[in-house]
Amino acid sequence: MSELRSEYELLVAELHRFNHSYYVDAQPIVSDAEYDRSFQRLLEIEKEHPEWRQASSPSQRVGAPLATGSHFEKVQHVVPMISIESLFGDDSIVEFEARVRKGLASETETEPTFICEPKWDGVSASLIYEDGVLVRGISRGDGQAGEDLTGNLRAVGGVPLQLFGNDIPKLIEVRGEVMMTISGFNAMNDLLRESGEQVFANPRNATAGTLKRLDPSVVASRPLRFVCYEVVRIDGKEMFATHGDAMQGAKDWGFAVSNYSSIVTSSAGMIKFHDEIEAKRDEIEYEMDGVVYKVDSQLLRDLLGSRARTPRWVCAHKFAPREETTTLIDILIQVGRTGRLTPRAVLEPVSIGGVTVQYATLHHSAYIANLDIRLGDQVLVRRAGDVIPQIVGPIAARRDGSETVFEFPDTCPECGVKTNNDGEHSFCVNIDCPAQLIRRVQYMVSRTALNIDGIGDKAVVQLHDAGLLNSVEQLFHLNYEAIGQLDGWGDKSVNAMRDGIAQALHPSLDKFLASLGIPEIGPETSRAVCAKYNSIEAVLDLATIDRKQAIQQLSEIDGVAKKVAQSLLNFIGTEKNRLSIHAMLNYGLHPQAVEVNVAAHKEAVVDKVFVLTGSLSCSRSEMKEVIQQAGGKVTGTVSKKTDYLVAGDKSGSKLTKAQKLGVAVLTEQQARELLA
Ligand SMILES: [Zn+2]
Repeated sequence: MSELRSEYELLVAELHRFNHSYYVDAQPIVSDAEYDRSFQRLLEIEKEHPEWRQASSPSQRVGAPLATGSHFEKVQHVVPMISIESLFGDDSIVEFEARVRKGLASETETEPTFICEPKWDGVSASLIYEDGVLVRGISRGDGQAGEDLTGNLRAVGGVPLQLFGNDIPKLIEVRGEVMMTISGFNAMNDLLRESGEQVFANPRNATAGTLKRLDPSVVASRPLRFVCYEVVRIDGKEMFATHGDAMQGAKDWGFAVSNYSSIVTSSAGMIKFHDEIEAKRDEIEYEMDGVVYKVDSQLLRDLLGSRARTPRWVCAHKFAPREETTTLIDILIQVGRTGRLTPRAVLEPVSIGGVTVQYATLHHSAYIANLDIRLGDQVLVRRAGDVIPQIVGPIAARRDGSETVFEFPDTCPECGVKTNNDGEHSFCVNIDCPAQLIRRVQYMVSRTALNIDGIGDKAVVQLHDAGLLNSVEQLFHLNYEAIGQLDGWGDKSVNAMRDGIAQALHPSLDKFLASLGIPEIGPETSRAVCAKYNSIEAVLDLATIDRKQAIQQLSEIDGVAKKVAQSLLNFIGTEKNRLSIHAMLNYGLHPQAVEVNVAAHKEAVVDKVFVLTGSLSCSRSEMKEVIQQAGGKVTGTVSKKTDYLVAGDKSGSKLTKAQKLGVAVLTEQQARELLA
């Protein structure tokens, strides 16, 4: 054999091993880069010597697409792909064991053992190998005949093109499940959604849909895996004595087999396996709908034989269902605390796995449109683990024409104000929207915003519930007498709140703008905006000019993206919000213009290193936040790299060290001026 030929043979064997370690063991033994190098070298040699290339070469995994409009050929199964009996409930498993024992009693004294495995919820397929080389892959079809999917099945991860081992029987046929990992499925759906394509309802549908594609490269691009669960035919060698041996054999040939299996001797063991796997269901990487029990011994299987349609030696013990059909009665729109409108399906109550389901999330308007769910539809509803129930899709075949398309509202159902779209979601930006009021006031009084003393989160809820706080502006026009009558309030606490609010009446303009809780407008952005428009009137005036022009103007500000500009204009363009701001001004709120040159200010602070020492008028963490918001950094020890030491009262060794190193020392007052 020539040197090149030996290199070629070695590469083929190596690449088969790399693929096996990646898809079957899920433990890659080489880096992607090394794999690619070997693969490229293989292609190079095959280009030079096309006569060496076999159908089982790793380069032949993804073949040419079939012609548009062509069909997969129908093929008879040599061994029918039987269906197995589905059983529900523990009693039926006790009966299954009794039936097996009774069936064997007259024939043999050998006691049966049973092998338990998950019942994967994917798509079954049969693979045929001649002299260790994959020659055909067939779908289940009706069990008697399936479709020739050889080209597509070759492209599925974990399908060996060439079996491992030396003493391989002349002909082998194995059965297994083609599946997608749940994480792979979700990632794939995310990609499809991003590119505006139809998403799949579940991994099984995605797998079935993918295997029907005419182009094997599509199959190769999707996270499909093959797991072998049965060896059905061997020519040229004796059949395995037990199922356990067969699975070991399949594993040695290079197939993935179930990682979850157990050998038991009675129905009690089967039920235990069922319960354990069902409890673990959400942790396992593939979907399953139950477990399967098989008589382990081939001899005993043959003695038991088949009934009319199903073999007697196997059954499926199904899990509690996760999907049911029911009627979609209505769609309600909920307004979240952030103003987001979320549609919620109202269903004819249905029991799924022992829990009554009456509502399901619908995410957003595009979700409803994509699935084409209509009011009155029969829908498939899915409930898994603790996840909120979801509508998988409508059952279009059951429509009678009375169903109606849901019109997603363009106004907020809580306050009637026109909504704004941001990506897939619609938002209500009305500052006084009842659904958002509590959160908005809580934010406004919080430390991050106006930092108002004497009123906290609980008080906001209490005042609102008592009907004393029905709008954001009312915060500056409270009925203190009425509040004093409420549970838990006295003169002292009422006065503290009154003082707190009075002290907050002169915030800097940027603080005030940020306190309104406008999406995208945080403290930093607000400061940038207010450096250009230095009165609240100037900001509000942006709503009176042409929108395009306003966006243009705002976008000129460093740090203001188009999205930010749009959000600000959506907010101030809503009349209710302008009225609310004017009301606040009427109640005595007077935001102070910001007159700092942002650029100059930034230069002195951004990326500068601050150290804090001594006692300050606020906590260290508050001061740290102020510095960080201005773009500075805070460290714990003074060094040559320190730019500023902020020295409060009773500063000690840090001050001495800073003076020694020549670090600029600021009083708290000086620091605040620098940072303002
Ligand atoms: Zn609203």
